[in-house]
Amino acid sequence: MGRHNIPHRSSKIGRNSLCPCGSQKKYKYCHGNPAEVPELTPGRVDAQARKLSPPRKCLAPTSMTTGCAGGTINAHTVSRSGSLGAIARNSHVYSYKLSVEGLNKAGGKILPTLIGWREASTFPGFCSTHDKALFAPLEDEPFIGSAQQCFLLAYRIVARELYTKLGSSLQSDFRDALTSSNAPLSDLVSAMNLGVDIGLRDAERHKDRYDFVLENSNWGAVRAVLFRFNTIFPIQCAGGFFPEKDIRGRTIQNYGIGRKTPDAMTLASFAAGGNSYISFCWLEDSDVSCSAYVSALLEQPQSELPAILGAIILQVSENCHFAPDWYDNLSAQGKEWVCLQAYAGLPPIMPLPKVASPIAYKDLPYLSPFSVESIVKLP
Ligand SMILES: [Zn+2]
Ligand SMILES: [Zn+2]
Repeated sequence: MGRHNIPHRSSKIGRNSLCPCGSQKKYKYCHGNPAEVPELTPGRVDAQARKLSPPRKCLAPTSMTTGCAGGTINAHTVSRSGSLGAIARNSHVYSYKLSVEGLNKAGGKILPTLIGWREASTFPGFCSTHDKALFAPLEDEPFIGSAQQCFLLAYRIVARELYTKLGSSLQSDFRDALTSSNAPLSDLVSAMNLGVDIGLRDAERHKDRYDFVLENSNWGAVRAVLFRFNTIFPIQCAGGFFPEKDIRGRTIQNYGIGRKTPDAMTLASFAAGGNSYISFCWLEDSDVSCSAYVSALLEQPQSELPAILGAIILQVSENCHFAPDWYDNLSAQGKEWVCLQAYAGLPPIMPLPKVASPIAYKDLPYLSPFSVESIVKLP
């Protein structure tokens, strides 16, 4: 869709501009005044962060926006209608709703909460017309694991990654303001904000590449590995990541300031037709890192894969959703394991417990009732 006209943050907040905290006061009289930094409640912080969401603009490729209905609708990122319904209990699933208030209440722990599955995993990325038209081959036809269907799973993820990173970038000044009077924290936030800018730049570039494939129906550029389960796997997700190390801990690629756009992977776990699937999908221009990543995965015995895949899902994305019947029946140790995986996926702002690579978890029993029935590689 060409450039996204995304406003990039300036690192300094103007003394005379309105404070990013939403107080309607000038910055110099609010968070910019070290003598009198206002204390915000966690609830206020969350409310202001929500206000800084990206505009509701359809993310369909610009060349395809004729007939755009305008605005956006909330659609599931865990694709395939009914997928989340397959793991729900009384129409509810466990999801992460990350908020300062939630973290505060849970004593800093990242804990999932029960929410209605119809609200879970949604994001407002496309207008009603494009949401229906672009994803029809995935949503309205039986899932056969075609390159086009794998691509569409990935496409929605890439659009969500862009939207999420844009949202995070719009909150950079707010984060700056909140920490302005605390030097060590302020340095951390600056580094984090720079990381957010780089992440946004890379997300834009990948969205452009995915747009190009979609515009040209170039399914030959699609690479995927699809794991099919014999039953319904209890963790669903839709997330993207830049594979840095494989599951044995071997470095695949380095990324950061001054480096080229990193290779990007998408990961989807969903249900269709009474089975579960986990799809790793990428484009040919990300093949070097992504192939190396899945090769390490495919070296593992098939019996170990459910635990390894479960750990990867939990580490890669906060956009994951659990079957209540599975999560509630985990031991205290099992719930702690889930929590540790979630920490591992966070940016390193706090000194959090270090988590080993997923391979360290292969013998844990939490996902042993599930088994991979077949593995298909595209092309
Ligand atoms: Zn303020
Ligand atoms: Zn549209």
